Amino acid sequence: MTDNKSGVLVVVEVEDSQPIDLGLEMLALARRLTGIMGGTVTAVAFGTGLETTGETLTAYGADQVLLNDNEIFTNFHAEAWLPDLSKIITEVEPALVLIGHSESGTDLAPRLAFRLDVDVATGCESIDIVNGRPHMTRSCFGGLAREVITFTKTPALATIRSKSQQALVPDMKRSAEIKHVSSILDVNAIRTRVVNRDREKAVGVQMESAKVVIGGGLGLGGPEGFKTLNEIAELVDGAVGASRAACDLDWCPRSYQIGLSGRTVAPELYIAVGISGASHHMAGCGNSKTIVSVNSDPKAEIFKSSRFGIVGNSQEIMPALAEEIRKLKA
Ligand SMILES: Cc1cc2nc3c(=O)[nH]c(=O)nc-3n(C[C@H](O)[C@H](O)[C@H](O)COP(=O)(O)OP(=O)(O)OC[C@H]3O[C@@H](n4cnc5c(N)ncnc54)[C@H](O)[C@@H]3O)c2cc1C
Repeated sequence: MTDNKSGVLVVVEVEDSQPIDLGLEMLALARRLTGIMGGTVTAVAFGTGLETTGETLTAYGADQVLLNDNEIFTNFHAEAWLPDLSKIITEVEPALVLIGHSESGTDLAPRLAFRLDVDVATGCESIDIVNGRPHMTRSCFGGLAREVITFTKTPALATIRSKSQQALVPDMKRSAEIKHVSSILDVNAIRTRVVNRDREKAVGVQMESAKVVIGGGLGLGGPEGFKTLNEIAELVDGAVGASRAACDLDWCPRSYQIGLSGRTVAPELYIAVGISGASHHMAGCGNSKTIVSVNSDPKAEIFKSSRFGIVGNSQEIMPALAEEIRKLKA
């Protein structure tokens, strides 16, 4: 690097006092990158009830853990996080800062970049080190192409897509320096106030960790199509996702959306039902191990990415599939 900044700082989101999977995946990336460019891996977590968080982050690859355990950080609030996070980054002097490409992360990262007067690459899928500098790869042109970005200013900031990295196997014997930092936040300086927070109840398996994900699109013909998908998902211990078009029509919750502007999944099996296969959608499921599609149009784009394709009417095929699985399980 051209200055004395080194190592990688990972901002790990915590939910119910536990680091989310994406945070652990970024720690694995940070370990790989520090293996090439040197320096240490610092994990930073904000929240409450972080008593065991330090040990978990250490086991997953952190050399140093900084915990900001404070009531005010129970729920994400970008304005509340920024002063402390900026201070930590200025003190640690990492060459690279990794933030999850989550709802919170995509809110936080550009604000942080502005505050630190550095640059940010959002939605990155991989990072390589070329001549000591991070080169970030991400989708562009609606998922039709990939671009590689690098910055001259340090630290470089990047948000990382879920499931683009694999978390390390935790090593409980690893040791790290675990520090509690005190907040410099002036609560009176926060200009926005969260008046209400409605948490959507998660039903069944989390989409990102499901081995089987069934995605529904406009070819389902209506919201009732999702009922059958939910039944099948329950039978195979899977999760249901959707195309943006189906979410736009309120056929299913917005949280189901898979794709460039939705969630990223990489299950063992992705079943795409009545989905055309637009690049925007494939950006969120293209890394699935096996894709099976059901589509009435034999020329549908989705078949190009599919290992197996079923040409036919989803409204006949999906109930029949549910019935067969039920029989097999009985
Ligand atoms: C900036 C931007 C971001 C976007 N982000 C996303 C994103 O994150 N996720 C996303 O999904 N999209 C996203 N989109 C939208 C995307 O481009 C497509 O419009 C969308 O994915 C199409 O959804 P669909 O496949 O359900 O619908 P359609 O494209 O209308 O496809 C429906 C498919 O169903 C088939 N079909 C019809 N009837 C039946 C039947 N009875 N049985 C079986 N098959 C049938 C048709 O042959 C067709 O292939 C984005 C677009 C933009 C511009």
